Amino acid sequence: MISRKAIGRSFPQAIPITFNIEKKDRAPCRLTCPAGINVQGYIQLIGQKKYDQAASLVMEKAPFPGVLGRVCPHPCEAECRRKLVDKPIAIKELKRFAADRAHLETKELPDIVDRKEKIAVIGAGPAGLTAAYFLRLKGYQVTVFEKLPVPGGMLKTGIPDFRLPPDILDKEINIILAHGISLVPNTAFGSDITFESLKQDGFDAVFLSSGAHESLSLGLEGEDTIEGVIDAISFLRDINLGQKTDCGQKVMIVGGGNVAIDAARCAKRIGSADVSIVYRRTRDEMPAYEEEIIGALEENIDIFTLTAPMKIISKEGRVTGIECIKNELGEMDDSGRRRPVNILGSEFMIECDTLIPAIGQKTDLSWTDAMPGLEITNYNRIKTHPVTLQTSLDNVFAGGDMVTGPATVIEAIAQGRKAAGGIDNYINRIETDPIKTNQVEPDQLENKIKQGLNGEVYADIPVNTKVEERACVQFLDPEKKGSIL
Ligand SMILES: Cc1cc2nc3c(=O)[nH]c(=O)nc-3n(C[C@H](O)[C@H](O)[C@H](O)COP(=O)(O)OP(=O)(O)OC[C@H]3O[C@@H](n4cnc5c(N)ncnc54)[C@H](O)[C@@H]3O)c2cc1C
Ligand code: SF4
Repeated sequence: MISRKAIGRSFPQAIPITFNIEKKDRAPCRLTCPAGINVQGYIQLIGQKKYDQAASLVMEKAPFPGVLGRVCPHPCEAECRRKLVDKPIAIKELKRFAADRAHLETKELPDIVDRKEKIAVIGAGPAGLTAAYFLRLKGYQVTVFEKLPVPGGMLKTGIPDFRLPPDILDKEINIILAHGISLVPNTAFGSDITFESLKQDGFDAVFLSSGAHESLSLGLEGEDTIEGVIDAISFLRDINLGQKTDCGQKVMIVGGGNVAIDAARCAKRIGSADVSIVYRRTRDEMPAYEEEIIGALEENIDIFTLTAPMKIISKEGRVTGIECIKNELGEMDDSGRRRPVNILGSEFMIECDTLIPAIGQKTDLSWTDAMPGLEITNYNRIKTHPVTLQTSLDNVFAGGDMVTGPATVIEAIAQGRKAAGGIDNYINRIETDPIKTNQVEPDQLENKIKQGLNGEVYADIPVNTKVEERACVQFLDPEKKGSIL
């Protein structure tokens, strides 16, 4: 008996000689990428030095290859089968490698067959710009309304320039807009424009993607009134837009995510000598990316773990310090992590001139009052259909952080593309079911990968596959790292 291979002749005597390719599923990296990027495809193209084609292949699913090559948390690498031999393939870095060598800005634009329908996109973050891009490719007249003077969303105003250089971001935004998308900056949905005004202006559908820009508060007395307390999102926005160049010598940040680490590293770069972070659980539980935590420690930022803020200390209306308490880990909480519990009597003081709470964000939904019938979830997010991202209002779709809660760039991009499909089907009166997003929903993912790794889908790894040393990404010496100013 002969064993069947993935590529083979249907039967030996076949004339002409033809081969069949049997593909049971996509690779785990592609299944895990929220946008379903063809990882193997673009890595093959890089191997052939076809950088433009590699970046273009990424753009088929996500129009931000250079951005993702720098900031994506690369869940795909965690499932890469190469890790069974040595280390996962450096999928994220290879994307950056291709994007930095490609010249997509000089590439001829595709022929777009114009349609008359107008779509309004609210918010020029990754979700909004991605939806705009894929809608435009389908021929729609797309206008993106942005509250701020510049597009990019958190890519521009949240993630600091030393992690995501502005020229890389601007180049990719310009490529998207060059497809014939109108951008209207300095225009807030809910005040400058409304759902009603968009209808009167003849828009056939609206995509809401205004992100989650309101910082959660610590709930401490005086947080809103004491001078020197500034929330992390405003702090980072002011720095990224060049409006803040000083925050005192002693800065304290509360939180353990990327936002907290970014705020701390920015404070260092604008000249604060003494920057510390207070986090209520242990370092292992910090949600920030490991490389960011290492970066902060290398830059002499102190991280006080198992510590919680209790009281803001002020003098003449200005913050001078914060009283903290040490924690220990108790029982598991709803998140599956052990609950931090205060150790009574362990209170201590940390002096500071600036206090920056960075414990999470939510969406400003004040404008929803003017959209009766728009359903909101218990988590204060816009409720959408899981496949089409259509809201409870027929011609309104929503995606990105305002639907998922604060998440990642690639998830926002995936939602933008999904919504473009949903809006296209809505305009063309196609029912929901036939939509093919090619994306695996998170609840199906684990099973799919398990099936694959059980040998049901993927071929076994040959026993004598060589373990190979591979180049690693080099990090600059902290002294040599670029300033953001
Ligand atoms: C400091 C920080 C660091 C991060 N680091 C990473 C990282 O390293 N990797 C990663 O994958 N993710 C990271 N994220 C998360 C990521 O940036 C977000 O998940 C992503 O940007 C969400 O995209 P979005 O399009 O939904 O929203 P946003 O990017 O927030 O864009 C929304 C846009 O809508 C605009 N807007 C808001 N209200 C209105 C209105 N009323 N009218 C018109 N426009 C409006 C906003 O100004 C903004 O431009 C980080 C986030 C922050 C804050
Ligand atoms: S976008 Fe992120 S998750 Fe998707 S393939 Fe690239 S690195 Fe992996």
